[in-house]
Amino acid sequence: MVENALRNLPAVSDVLAQPAVAALLAEGYRQDIITSAVRERIAEARAAVVDGTAPPTAEEVARDVAKATQQSEADWPVHVLNATGVILHTNLGRAPLSPESIRAAAAASEGYSTLELDLEDGKRGSRYGAVARLLRQLTGAEDAIAVNNNAGAMLLGLAAVAAGREVIVSRGEASEIGGGFRIPDVLVQSGARLVEVGTVNRTYATDYERAVTEQTAALLVVHRSNFRVTGFTHEPSLVDIAAVGTAHGVPLLHDLGSGALLDTAQFGIGHETMPQESLAAGADLVFFSGDKLLGGPQAGLAAGRADLVAALRAHPLARALRADKLTLAALHRTLLHYIRGDAMQQIPVWRMISASQEELSERARVVAERIGDRATIVDGSSRLGGGSLPTDELPSRLVSIDASSVGGPDELARRLRAGSPPVVARIEDERVLLDLRTIPSERDAELARAASAALATAADA
Ligand SMILES: *Cc1c(COP(=O)(O)O)cnc(C)c1O
Repeated sequence: MVENALRNLPAVSDVLAQPAVAALLAEGYRQDIITSAVRERIAEARAAVVDGTAPPTAEEVARDVAKATQQSEADWPVHVLNATGVILHTNLGRAPLSPESIRAAAAASEGYSTLELDLEDGKRGSRYGAVARLLRQLTGAEDAIAVNNNAGAMLLGLAAVAAGREVIVSRGEASEIGGGFRIPDVLVQSGARLVEVGTVNRTYATDYERAVTEQTAALLVVHRSNFRVTGFTHEPSLVDIAAVGTAHGVPLLHDLGSGALLDTAQFGIGHETMPQESLAAGADLVFFSGDKLLGGPQAGLAAGRADLVAALRAHPLARALRADKLTLAALHRTLLHYIRGDAMQQIPVWRMISASQEELSERARVVAERIGDRATIVDGSSRLGGGSLPTDELPSRLVSIDASSVGGPDELARRLRAGSPPVVARIEDERVLLDLRTIPSERDAELARAASAALATAADA
């Protein structure tokens, strides 16, 4: 039986002669690539036939290959409307850039530029100079460097400052940041040895003090990005830990994660430690991301003492982790917003954080009205995401959609994702929720249309 069926599998040449595939070849697609795709598809069909499936016709194989080829040609990543209310959504690309930052990245990629050239003397310059100057002004650091991402900045920092020696970390901070990124593992990769002090809930400055030896290269404080320790707890202030470092001539490194250059507390949520505060409190080197609360491109920034930054710049890993021109151009523009004082208006992340409840409520009302009687407005909250103030919520007003007519909330969420543009929504208590905080206001009408389309059933058509 199976042998007969296998004999009925189409031949490669038959598939190539089918109109769907012939059209691809006529368009100019490479014959060898299309032929391999056809072979692969037939091999899959062969395996399925062995498992008892009927063999496909040459026409079916041709159609599959044409469809897969066209799909892989579509723009990637696909633009989506983020209706989750999570501002720094890692799966959706974290921070959207300001229009000026986008233009700067596009301009940097268009032609040649002074990325590493000093126009005055015609000599080689540093790709980090411009960004470092702004970071010095904004944070009070003596110098700074920007690399691929914050995990990279930490790896570089630990390798340059502490390889072969010891780094003291509180047990309460030797954590996993996410996606398998664990502080103890980064330390191992950097070549430094981890010395844990204190307990998971209580650590004192004296714990650091007692652990300092001739082998100590640095003290490391890691911001608790994605968890909170509550109850019977103690952690020493940064000032007290820095004092231990100063007394023993050991630098204090501080991984901040988010890098808020504005005060989050003005929006009724907790205060996220700012790089300038950490440095003022005595940290010698701070690490933070470019695409979290900074609101710029993916990058990892290390700012602080000039001799430490110089060690980072000179380390071979700096080359391996270096940021490219698109990133540096966008980062430079993003930092300029803070210097000019228009970050709150121009940087999307801060616009979303600062959106008032009245404004969100009014937008939700209009969107719900457009969707129709299955939509209502409810109280809810948005989150910063991306490991910033994990337990804090920004009060919001949300559009809640009754999905019973289309088979429940999971089905409605699936339809929203499959729509054009795709909408990523939130499901809570059997309701599908749309949070307008993470939707640019000029796209509200589009969101309402997508939701209406997702709710339409055969009966409506
Ligand atoms: C997010 C985060 C990191 C990693 O930053 P990436 O830019 O994602 O590499 C490291 N440390 C802390 C505390 C973080 O919150």
